[in-house]
Amino acid sequence: MSESTHYKVIIVGSGPAGLTAALYAARADLAPLVLEGLQPGGQLTITTDVENYPGFPEGVMGPELMDKMREQAKRFGAECQFKIATEVDLSARPFKVVTDDAEYTGDALIIATGATARLLGLESESLLMGHGVSACATCDGFFFRDKELVVVGGGDSAMEEGTFLTKFASKVTIVHRREQFRSSKIMLKRAEDNDKIEFLTNATVEDILQTDGELAVRGVLLKDTQTGETREFSCDGVFMAIGHVPNSQVFGGVLDTDEQGYILTKADSTETNIEGVFACGDVQDTVYRQAVTAAGTGCMA
Ligand code: NAP
Repeated sequence: MSESTHYKVIIVGSGPAGLTAALYAARADLAPLVLEGLQPGGQLTITTDVENYPGFPEGVMGPELMDKMREQAKRFGAECQFKIATEVDLSARPFKVVTDDAEYTGDALIIATGATARLLGLESESLLMGHGVSACATCDGFFFRDKELVVVGGGDSAMEEGTFLTKFASKVTIVHRREQFRSSKIMLKRAEDNDKIEFLTNATVEDILQTDGELAVRGVLLKDTQTGETREFSCDGVFMAIGHVPNSQVFGGVLDTDEQGYILTKADSTETNIEGVFACGDVQDTVYRQAVTAAGTGCMA
């Protein structure tokens, strides 16, 4: 590998947290490097309308918002590279960050790697992922025109994905493991008011059923959490909307995290347990997980 290139600040991740950190660092004349990661722009690039980011009364498309954030950071001198950090050495300053084909050093490191959709962990789920199973309604909804779908989860994502999927599907059943929904009232109401959406509560998906001889979904095996009874439920596709896991694996063992892997930061700051290493956005946020709070902590970092 060639010699490493030095930057004052290296930012890993390019969602609202990473790009806001880049904007502020660039405007402080620190010419930051942004390693954009697997999904440049982060989770908002796989969503449609963002209705709760201040300044957009009519809403804004997720990818468009992220393109604007990137342009704004670049305008002041941030360098964005479509690379994935595969290894870090935080044992001494400058810190070292390695990608597939390059090595960088930085006086400071800002971690803004976000979070990734959580899955149920079923064998059938990984087998049928991309063949009737998905964790992204905006990416895959289009393939389910006039089909019947199951959405798993009871939070805002489940309501949002369920509602979005009714643009294509003939029927969407939201399956939730409890009676009470975690989602906000407004998003629950929107789903409840939608004629194409039905709810199944106190039910878990025990298995995803494959069509005989085909890589396709024919239904799910549901378990009633109160009676323990199981039954087959027909559907053509299953969308997971059961939350997220933080993308902190590459920093594992070096930075302090909670038991779920969220990076721990000091109270009222984005400082980690290593001086000069900061964490912002969803990788350290177990509570709010909003684009606007991610941007806020990116600014702090
Ligand atoms: P979430 O709020 O953590 O909800 C996850 C849901 O999945 C919960 O209902 C949970 O059930 C269920 N769940 C988790 N693990 C499960 C498992 N193994 N099996 C079955 N069910 C499981 O996640 P989210 O809906 O992705 O939302 C994350 C954050 O983003 C929230 O702050 C939310 O407000 C925000 N968000 C906002 C918008 C918007 O405003 N447009 C859209 C999407 C998300 P329990 O309730 O039983 O724990």
